[in-house]
Parts: sequence; structure tokens; C-alpha cells
Amino acid sequence: MKIKKMFRAYSLSVVWILCLVLFTEWAMAQELEDYPRKPNFIIIFADDLGYGDLGVYGHPTIHTPNLDRMAIEGQKWTNFYVGASVCTPSRAALLTGRLPVRSGMASNKSRVLFPNSVNGLPLEEITLAEQLKTVGYGTACIGKWHLGHKEKYLPTNHGFDYYYGIPYSNDMDLTRKLEGPTGYWDLWTKEYKNLEIADFNVPLIRNKTIIERPANQHTITKRYTDESIKWIEQNKKSPFFLYLAYNLPHVPLFASEEFMGTSKRGLYGDVVEEIDHNVGRIITLLENEGLAENTIVVFTSDNGPWIKTEISGGSAGLLRDGKGTTWEGGMREPCIFWSPGNIKPKVVMDMGTTMDLFSTFSKLASAEMPADREMDGIDLGPVLFSDGKSSRNEVFYYRGRDLYAVRVGAYKAHFITQEVYVHNPKRVEHNPPLLYNLDEDPSERFDISEKFPEVIAEIEQVVREHNSKMIKAPDLLALKEKTK
Ligand code: MG
Repeated sequence: MKIKKMFRAYSLSVVWILCLVLFTEWAMAQELEDYPRKPNFIIIFADDLGYGDLGVYGHPTIHTPNLDRMAIEGQKWTNFYVGASVCTPSRAALLTGRLPVRSGMASNKSRVLFPNSVNGLPLEEITLAEQLKTVGYGTACIGKWHLGHKEKYLPTNHGFDYYYGIPYSNDMDLTRKLEGPTGYWDLWTKEYKNLEIADFNVPLIRNKTIIERPANQHTITKRYTDESIKWIEQNKKSPFFLYLAYNLPHVPLFASEEFMGTSKRGLYGDVVEEIDHNVGRIITLLENEGLAENTIVVFTSDNGPWIKTEISGGSAGLLRDGKGTTWEGGMREPCIFWSPGNIKPKVVMDMGTTMDLFSTFSKLASAEMPADREMDGIDLGPVLFSDGKSSRNEVFYYRGRDLYAVRVGAYKAHFITQEVYVHNPKRVEHNPPLLYNLDEDPSERFDISEKFPEVIAEIEQVVREHNSKMIKAPDLLALKEKTK
């Protein structure tokens, strides 16, 4: 009798589970039919573009009418940060919503991945593309990847349905023989006008296949945009996520014939203006296709300007220093959000980071946040769509695997500073840390550590709490192939 009862109860629970599975599948199907309420997402990521390089961010001789217009119709953020001051870790932070030191995409030995690197972004990491795929999005990565060029790590193995691009930086696979210790820097300073496409044997990949080598970089900005437009047209009927990462204006600078010699800022300006023109083509497409109101476009850059390359590098405007450093110029970026009728037009002085896009987009797409790992983002929705404030009050500035500086509210403490792009860069530990009020002194000129020991104590407490929860993954950037 008892066994019979147990068997009946067991059968009933099996039926219940089956019903639950069927209901969940039905509910998910209904959710997908909710489109067009589920917004499309486009992230446009420039490479090494500085805080001061756009018209709307104050550049006096670079003309960027399309990005300026997006900033006026949407939101221009003035305290927006990336997860690291160089390419690979910054891109890992954007796509995983996590500090790069958590995924192993941070190293004190090799700051980025190179063509002879062995590893890439671990497959256990959840990229924004994988996250959005769980709720039915189509996904494409067009442009620079730089999270592992081996087939195993390419975008198509990280949640993207489609990939077209150069898998790492456009200055890699150098074919020139460089003379002396300053040879590399001479390329961008003395010789920068004489560079040839053949000097950089970088591959152009479609999905997993190399289709061109060396990639013609004169036309790469236009071709990335052509591919993006084609892909949007093919995928516009269901929710989509496009990650468009231009390789430029990272050196070497190459512009197309149409833009060469047209900017008052020289070749760097030509390149930025060509990017602006092509962003405009995407905006026009969205407007013409009736997609603008249901698409959120974000434009930002992976890290600050490469100042060492002199006239070939950009400008951080009034911010101190640039790429590779934990000064503001290295990690604070121009950031524009555009979605007419949805995003409240304003200049936003609250803090945000690229890692917040993961949380923000997940919420908008009704995708459940990963619960099995530490995430570093917040939902920016209250600022984007209403008069709410950003809940972000802290920014952590890592260089490689070490925490160099922390911002809490208006105050930033530098515990370590270090030179960059010189032989044996000098590393200095500061005790007490250098302290700046970034609201009053965005250029980090006046150390006020002596006047505000209580602020330093508060920041030190934030650091202790941060460190107590931090689990660093092993360094995956350092390992290189022996030959090549
Ligand atoms: Mg970069």
C-alpha cells in the first residue's frame, strides 16, 4: 500500500515537472513575440580614441558632426570609464561585465595578447553575446577582437553568430626590420607618413577563415561599416546585438582616399572623421529602417590616447596622461548613448563603466544575470531613461593584476603610479596615497592627501572590502609560443 502511494506521488511529480518545462518553453516563446519592445543593442568601440578627440568633447579641429548629433539627441557622459587602460583587458571587461583580473585577461608580464600568444578569453566566461542569446538575440562581432586569435577563442566560439574582422591590433605582425631601441617609436613619429599596408601582415577573418592578408587598412573602417549594415538588414526582424569595434584610430593610421588629407588635425583627424562618417551611416540606416526608436547605440573607446606616438596619437583633453596608465586620461573615455524617444537627452556627470553595459542590457532584454560569479557592473537604466542617479560610486583602476588607484565619489587615491612605454618604467608606491578631487581638479594636478586623511581612510576601507572578495584568475596573457 505504502509503495503504491509512493509510486503515485512520484508519477504526479514527474507530470508536474513536465508541465513546468512545457510552460517555461511556451512563456519563452511568448516573450520572443514581444519584439519590438525588446531593444536592439549596438556597441561601437573605437580603439585608442581619447577623451578629447570628438567635437562634442571639445576638440577644436576634429569635425565629428554625427557623434556630436548623437550626443545632443541622447546622452553625453563625462565620467565614463573602461575596465583597463589597454586593449585586451578593456575588451574583456566590456564583454564579460567583470574586472579583467577575474577572467585572467590581465597580466604584469604581457599587457595584451600578441600574435604569438597561446591563450584567449576562457570559454567559461559569459560574454554579453552569450548572455543575450539566452533570450533570443542575433549577435555579430565586426572589427577588432583581441581576446584570442586561435580558432577556439574567436568570437564565433564566444556567443557571436557572425564575425568579420582583424583579430588583434592593427600594428601587429610587423614586417619591417626596426633598428635600435627607439625603432618602434620612430614608426609613429618620424616615419608615420610612409607606412604601407604590407608593413603589417594582419589577417582579416570571416567567421573562422582568413580571407585577406595583409588586410587593406585603408578601407577597413568603411568595410566594417558595410558589413554591419548588411548584417543589420539581414537580422532586423528579431532582436539583435551588434558589437562593432573599429581598429582605428590605433596606430598605424590609415584613411581611405575619400578622407585622406581632409581634416585640419592631419592624418589622425582624417581617421577619426572617417569613423564619425561611418557611424553616421549606421544611424541613418536605423532611421530609414524604422529601427532607431527600438535600438540603443553606445559609442565609446577601449582606452585613452597613445600619447607616446606623438602626432599619430589622440588627446585626452583636460585629463592627465593617456593609454597604459591609471591616470584619468588612460581610463576615462567619451561615451555617448543614443536611442531617440527612449534615452533622456542630457549631459550625465554620474559615473558609469563599460562593465555596466552587461547589467543594463541584461535587464532591458530580461536576461537573468549570472549568479555563479562576481559581476562588476550596475544597471544604468535609471539614468538612461529617467531622472534617476547612477548607483555607481566607485571605480577601480587596475594596471595588469594590481590595483593602482581607486575613486570613491569625487575623490581618487593613487596607491601606485607607474611610467609607461619607456625602458624599465618607474613604479612608485605612495604612502599616504596621492589624493585628488576629480570634480574640482579633473586634470589631477593638486595632491590634497595631507588635507583629507579621513577621505583616505574611507577609500582604504573600500579597498579592504574589495580585496577581501577579490578572486584573481591565473594570468592567461603571459604565455607565448616559443617560435615566431
Ligand atoms: Mg586600445
